[in-house]
Amino acid sequence: MKIRFLPLFIFCFGSYFAQSPKTYAEQVIKKLTSPEFSGRGYVDNGMKRASEEIAQQFEKTGLLKLTDSYFQPFTYPVHVIKNCELKVNGKELKIGSDYLVGAGSPSLQGTFQPLIFNPSVIDSLFEWDDRSYFDKELERINNNAVVFPDVQFPENMIIRESTANQFYRDIPQIISSGGLDVSIPLVVEQTSSKFIHTLSSRQTQTVDIFISSRSVPEAIKSVTIDLQSDFEADFEAQNVVGYLKGKRSDSIIVLTAHYDHLGKINDVIFPGANDNASGIAFLLSMSRIYAKSKPNFDIVFIAFAGEEAGLKGSQYFVDHPLIDLKKIKFLVNFDMVGTGEDGIQVVNGREFPKQFNKLENISHMYNYLKQVKVRGAACNSDHCPFYQKGVPSFYIYTLGGESGYHDIYDTEVSLYAFDKLVALLTKFINEL
Ligand SMILES: [Zn+2]
Repeated sequence: MKIRFLPLFIFCFGSYFAQSPKTYAEQVIKKLTSPEFSGRGYVDNGMKRASEEIAQQFEKTGLLKLTDSYFQPFTYPVHVIKNCELKVNGKELKIGSDYLVGAGSPSLQGTFQPLIFNPSVIDSLFEWDDRSYFDKELERINNNAVVFPDVQFPENMIIRESTANQFYRDIPQIISSGGLDVSIPLVVEQTSSKFIHTLSSRQTQTVDIFISSRSVPEAIKSVTIDLQSDFEADFEAQNVVGYLKGKRSDSIIVLTAHYDHLGKINDVIFPGANDNASGIAFLLSMSRIYAKSKPNFDIVFIAFAGEEAGLKGSQYFVDHPLIDLKKIKFLVNFDMVGTGEDGIQVVNGREFPKQFNKLENISHMYNYLKQVKVRGAACNSDHCPFYQKGVPSFYIYTLGGESGYHDIYDTEVSLYAFDKLVALLTKFINEL
């Protein structure tokens, strides 16, 4: 019994003086979301500089290299919105809060007096099962800039309101991708929905602008735009990979998180505190723990690039693996772990019930998290390419609390469950 008190004593003593994972995570998140890294994206070398920062942390912690460096370089196609100035009805708007630009929008300069799309044609399309009125509307707006006003379809419509809404919201996208027989230089959508910025791997035919109907509630009569964007066929990125030796090397544990985000447009940064500076903080926190106490198996730590552009870094890694994928005993991916007021969600929990039960039991036994929720397989983060190659894996994200998502407001996270999640995962990994 006595010997069991010793590690406990060291832990308490050590943690009294050393930083808790949460305190360390606060510093990491503050750093990675700072203007220095430009939203870890596609301008100012933001993503590259973030990869160098992570490699420095790997080095400081004493992680070993699988090759002659921590980096695994690769390229992928991405469309980059570089700059956009926008005036609507003579008023200058601010990107991120007043408006957003569709990720595939080509460069465009000029002043437009857009036509307003008539939403009632949607009703007619469903009611009469006849395209002629709709086609006439397309003919009217062809070769013009067009505004899709923010409309609420009446509840007494023949078709369900939600169907009408969905269809109406889809038309601008269909126009943009060239899916309708019209050519339109600029589509403006007035919307009361939350802005969610994304990335595109190709250029669309049309410029898409989403304008908050809170910023511009009135009818849009004129739009002056100066948009610069660029398609990069071979954007250069790199995964950051390091490892720690365990007591055994016949199997490997892999911990992953993506470090890239959406970058910045003009001087407006998409900071990605929760998505996914929090996951990188988690990865680094785990590496600091296992650098001090030797794990049972070798642990490989991978910080992926290009997740937001479509899991590019993780896909590249499984196609060009630096380790034998068959040796991976278990992989855990962390993407958006900055809250936790309502516990965690475990993607793939249903696929790996033995490991899920273990995780849930530990959390229950130590009263770590409010809940450990199970989910089936979902290809929604970097665990997916591994899972598709047969690697047993979880993807964990936290639930509850508040954070932005793919917008300019993802600036801060509570880290409510951070220390307990670190403790839970450490115990879980030790029992694998
Ligand atoms: Zn993410």
